[in-house]
Amino acid sequence: MSDTIFGKIISGEIPSEFLYEDEHCIAINDINPQAPVHVLVIPKQSIPRLVDAQLNDQALLGHLMLVAGKLAQQLGVGDAFRLVVNNGAEAGQTVFHLHLHIIGGRAFAEGHMAG
Ligand code: AMP
Repeated sequence: MSDTIFGKIISGEIPSEFLYEDEHCIAINDINPQAPVHVLVIPKQSIPRLVDAQLNDQALLGHLMLVAGKLAQQLGVGDAFRLVVNNGAEAGQTVFHLHLHIIGGRAFAEGHMAG
């Protein structure tokens, strides 16, 4: 679990303020926010990339989505946010421990997938 920076944050090796924690995941503010709200939802179980997830991870993946929705509401962006998963270095993934980005609080370009 402690092979990536997120594993170290989850294990407590690197101190970090958790916005949310339950038995399956944590949420923290992104250190380099791309919007007024930029929160990472990170499973405690380390799955490197979304494509590495298996059928027995189905409940966990659903849980992360539900937590992200609830957190977005609590953070005041429930009506307008993006949920982003970068899969692979060429798609911009830098930490190989699956995580969801909740990005909100700014205007999004209409019709764009990102940005
Ligand atoms: P990704 O590029 O999808 O792998 O996302 C990794 C994200 O983790 C980036 O948005 C980084 O800004 C963020 N990040 C890296 N290190 C930390 C840290 N120690 N605490 C919070 N966020 C971090």
